[in-house]
Amino acid sequence: MMNSKTPPNTATRMPALFIGHGSPMNAITQNPFRDTWINLGKTLPRPNAILCISAHWQTNGTQVCMAEKPETIHDFGGFPQELFAQQYPAPGAPDIAQMTCDFFADGTITPTLDWGLDHGAWTILQSLFPLADVPVFQLSLAMDLSFSEHFSLARRLASLREKGVMVIGSGNIVHNLRLLNQKFDWAIEFDNYIKSALETNNEEALIHIERAGNAARLAVPTNEHYLPLLYIAAIRHVDDNMHFLTEAFDLGSLSMRSVIYQ
Ligand code: ZN
Repeated sequence: MMNSKTPPNTATRMPALFIGHGSPMNAITQNPFRDTWINLGKTLPRPNAILCISAHWQTNGTQVCMAEKPETIHDFGGFPQELFAQQYPAPGAPDIAQMTCDFFADGTITPTLDWGLDHGAWTILQSLFPLADVPVFQLSLAMDLSFSEHFSLARRLASLREKGVMVIGSGNIVHNLRLLNQKFDWAIEFDNYIKSALETNNEEALIHIERAGNAARLAVPTNEHYLPLLYIAAIRHVDDNMHFLTEAFDLGSLSMRSVIYQ
């Protein structure tokens, strides 16, 4: 662990990532998204721990997982046995999870042992950190919060980056599983709206996606796949450079756009 008296500097600030995860099958098939994650993983610094905020852990109130050995959760159905056989045996990070709780003296974040690593986390971590030797813990999405409340909560997590914690949001900017397999103008429109908001650090545009009108309603029919992006945008440091890792769609209505702040 970094000595607490060591002044933070840009050399020790961990990157913050938002990864568009798409289909769980991306974990076990040959595809350009997985190739990109593998290549990104080779360029990333080694963190003390990874905090993953996944679309697939939704709770009432925000929770943090304290498990010492988080279980690999296969939270999906109708996929081949090979996907259910996947394991990501990274250790947990209960000490840093506790520290994360302690940022909020009012008990905003509740510790729990009742989670592990859902597929939003492990399907990308398998490629980013294939040795599974970096401790990982998850923070849930409190579905009772507004976008602006999520953003404010997330901002208070920013100092984790200075403590050697890599924060990874895993979701999809455009995610509509009812409309698939064709090119949709609204999907491209909303993805471009978010691209522009990220490029100009327009936090209000990211929080108030209703400004994108009907495109937002179709691209974000439910909030959970969008929210992890808000967490990553909220912990942007003024000295960060932002770049996009992937600018592509899968199945027509899944934006695989991924964002790196470092
Ligand atoms: Zn998902």
